[in-house]
Amino acid sequence: MSEIRHNWTKEEILEIYNRPMMELLYDAATIHRKQHDPNVVQVSTLLSIKTGGCSEDCGYCPQAARYHTGVEGNDLMSVNQVKAQALRAKAGGSSRVCMGAAWRNVKDGPEFDQVLEMVRGINKLDMEVCCTLGMITENQAQRLAEAGLYAYNHNLDSSEEYYKEVISTRGYQDRLDTIDNVRKTNVTVCSGGIIGMGENIEDRAGMLVALSTLDPQPESTPINALVAVEGTPLEDEKPVEIWDMIRMVATTRIVLPETQVRLSAGRTQMSREGQAMCFFAGANSIFAGDKLLTTPNPDVNEDMKMFELLGMNPQKPFTKKVQPQTVEAVDSEFESLGEKPKWTRPEHKIERNEVAKQKGKELKV
Ligand code: SF4
Repeated sequence: MSEIRHNWTKEEILEIYNRPMMELLYDAATIHRKQHDPNVVQVSTLLSIKTGGCSEDCGYCPQAARYHTGVEGNDLMSVNQVKAQALRAKAGGSSRVCMGAAWRNVKDGPEFDQVLEMVRGINKLDMEVCCTLGMITENQAQRLAEAGLYAYNHNLDSSEEYYKEVISTRGYQDRLDTIDNVRKTNVTVCSGGIIGMGENIEDRAGMLVALSTLDPQPESTPINALVAVEGTPLEDEKPVEIWDMIRMVATTRIVLPETQVRLSAGRTQMSREGQAMCFFAGANSIFAGDKLLTTPNPDVNEDMKMFELLGMNPQKPFTKKVQPQTVEAVDSEFESLGEKPKWTRPEHKIERNEVAKQKGKELKV
């Protein structure tokens, strides 16, 4: 077993990231094999249960209402629609459904109650359920846990320093506090970030310092390559080089040895060979389905063909942790508190976000 360290420094992580590629691959693959079955990959399906119209200004996100990106907003999906999609995902080989809502934070009320019903419904299908709903309080995390939630996703996105260059409407500490609220329950933590947003290598290392010093470390860490969508502030960013992705995955594997490292957005830009190198470097989770919230993703059949070619198998649900019990709403220990938490709004000016917002305004007239 590899030692779990919570005291990684940026310098140490940079040293790993910059190792000669063959050394880096060997070191990461060695740790990967000690901790995980190298031929098993966890497959999740990401479902956008409430798309678009978001009040935030995340520079990478086509769902922010202020940018003109052509994403059409929709209301929260019904419980039955979600269950039907989950069944389809299960038939396609997914062991987990991750439900994403374009919200700044969860608000107590009928919509959150509906999400809790979705969680109960999917857990009863014997699938792992994950939610990504924005910032949540401890009480909301407890209610999700009771409903049978397996994981909660809340990405740190980048280093604390670079985060301020991408988002002005919410703060890094709020993200850490949300992760902390999830940690007070038995729900596992999924947290990672995005590369290719114009950050430097120090920022990538800084994000890994923040993730690795969490105690316990996240059970799952998505590494996304930016998909630059027209109309967003980051529309002109160049596609991430496959070598950067491999280095990032390998470094993540070394500093987060037990975590499932997920190859997330940006896989359509990668060849099968590139993805195979990422699996060798320690990635052991992917998102399946032809869409990742609003951006394209490889077709499920393509992924299954790739698995066959590489002799890999999808991971069975609840391999890493037992299935949570579902407590029905009527038996709930945790009632809605109707909280109005004061999450911060730094609102500093980010030039490119302002430009994209102005363009969005003009195009919407
Ligand atoms: S990333 Fe989430 S919070 Fe940010 S704009 Fe998109 S949907 Fe909203």
